[in-house]
Amino acid sequence: MIGVLAVQGDFREHELVFQRMGVPIRRVRRAGDLAGVSGLVIPGGESTTIGKLAREYGVEEEARRRYQEGTLALWGTCAGAIWLAQEIEGYPDQPRLGVLDMSVARNAYGRQVESFETELAIDGFERPFHAVFIRAPVITRVGEGMRVIARYREDPVFVIGERAMVTTFHPELTSDPRVHRFFTDLVEREVPLKVG
Ligand code: GLN
Repeated sequence: MIGVLAVQGDFREHELVFQRMGVPIRRVRRAGDLAGVSGLVIPGGESTTIGKLAREYGVEEEARRRYQEGTLALWGTCAGAIWLAQEIEGYPDQPRLGVLDMSVARNAYGRQVESFETELAIDGFERPFHAVFIRAPVITRVGEGMRVIARYREDPVFVIGERAMVTTFHPELTSDPRVHRFFTDLVEREVPLKVG
């Protein structure tokens, strides 16, 4: 079962994409909602709010335990990507899951280009993906266990690990389900993806 963290942000948009694909999902608000969930999507929104609520509702602790145990795959989009990162530059105390060996800088594209859209080439995808960026973080460091499969200019924007993926753009805001399909494939793998 795929779960979508539904404490704040655009979780409904993620749900709609999965629904159109015929993939059943569960809204995750409390730690107990993670039972039976093998892949968790963390939506875009406000990473400080998502982090605070996920901590308060016990989802952070349970998601960390399940990820470390190897029974939960993770996908963070934008604010969700920030929640997954080990280091958030300039915000050492911001609540986060912090399980992925990478660093991010929040809102790092600057005011003039806060939001933009681009046709993104993604490794393994036959056609470019229309990517929407909204006050996106920049991934400033990627650890050895992670692989970059798309960049915007120089910066990594789609990074995968053995049982995790991160996109700084919003595939839930377009009608193209390919990145969502990529995640359901990752969740269904018996053997973790080989990266690095
Ligand atoms: N700028 C937001 C943050 O730092 C993320 C924006 C988004 O998810 N679209 O939390």
